[in-house]
Amino acid sequence: MTKTILPGATIGIIGGGQLGQMMSFSAKEMGYKVIVLDPTPNCPAAQVSDDQIVAAYDDLAQLIELAKRCDVLTYEFENVDAETINEVKKYTEVPQGTKALTITQDRVSEKNFIEKSGFSTVPHVVINNIFEYHRAVEKLGTPVIVKTTRGGYDGKGQILIEDPEKVCYADIEELLMHGTCIVEKKIALKKEVSVVVAANSSQQTSIFPVIENIHRHNILHLSSCPAEISTETENEIYQIGEKLAQNLELVGTMCIEFFISTINEVFVNEIAPRPHNSGHLTIESCNISQFDAHIRGVCNLAMPKVRLLQSAVMVNLLGQHLQPAKEVLPEHTEWHFHDYGKAESKNNRKMGHITILSDDLRETKSSVEKNSIWDV
Ligand code: ADP
Ligand code: MG
Repeated sequence: MTKTILPGATIGIIGGGQLGQMMSFSAKEMGYKVIVLDPTPNCPAAQVSDDQIVAAYDDLAQLIELAKRCDVLTYEFENVDAETINEVKKYTEVPQGTKALTITQDRVSEKNFIEKSGFSTVPHVVINNIFEYHRAVEKLGTPVIVKTTRGGYDGKGQILIEDPEKVCYADIEELLMHGTCIVEKKIALKKEVSVVVAANSSQQTSIFPVIENIHRHNILHLSSCPAEISTETENEIYQIGEKLAQNLELVGTMCIEFFISTINEVFVNEIAPRPHNSGHLTIESCNISQFDAHIRGVCNLAMPKVRLLQSAVMVNLLGQHLQPAKEVLPEHTEWHFHDYGKAESKNNRKMGHITILSDDLRETKSSVEKNSIWDV
């Protein structure tokens, strides 16, 4: 499908969290109308959109209603059912299709796809029961991480096994109750990086500068751009980004997460077929943001060459950080402050972020590390 959707038309977004909100900001700026479908009334995206359909993500009748009311439909998270997309496709344009969604929803199909495309994934074994778990550990050695194959995010559905003698089998059984799992070798990481790629239906792409990421308790804490990596690694990552976008028949924005090991191996960790937390700094630091690129992609506008205008650091504000950050916000003229407007604050829940444009990434990162807001 190569229909071009111009401002004035209506974009429907399934999911109304912060990613939907930032997509909507981009769309509204350009003059599109936006309708969001989300079960939470006045969810973050609805606060900045024209209308909301309050409904569950699997409420087919309401999804069809959304499809009928919009010229193009997109989604802000990857756990949308492919069957649902195929159903709503009868009523409106869904240029993203289901290929990228279906492949990346499942860690096994995702890893197989990455390997078939010619790139490395972390050594892993697929398991369906405790016996297979034992065989996997024999093969890989420890430390390993057991991960559910579907539905995990921010480290949820993962168990780190360092000492095979001290394993709580009930925890592993619990993960296996949700279905197939993988046992993955824990890599000695030098750093984690990501790359955001966006495409339109005419296979034009925009690729963003590589971002470096620091996680805490498996949740993204800080991103900085450009990543401090060799030109060789950078080129390798761009090549992987372009190739995976092509093979996934990408439309809209996706992000690829990478591990760089202490001996400089590059592993593709996972692919998010949507804008990504690490790409939030593109809002202030690049000529177009990952959200602008997403809107351009799904509306089939030409894809611009991305330019980094200034280096930047992004730090997440989780539930425990938001209030203390707000208290000192008035004195931080360098902060680009984003509060997603979520009604309920919870420990470790992503509530907002700040971006700092920087001439000296090391110094900016160290000033963040010294700030007690992020001590908890
Ligand atoms: P998700 O983001 O879906 O929760 P990930 O597989 O990306 O799951 O894991 C979250 C984080 O946990 C990673 O960004 C990384 O910091 C750490 N991690 C996950 N798998 C490994 C691994 N095999 N080796 C080392 N660190 C890992
Ligand atoms: Mg991840």
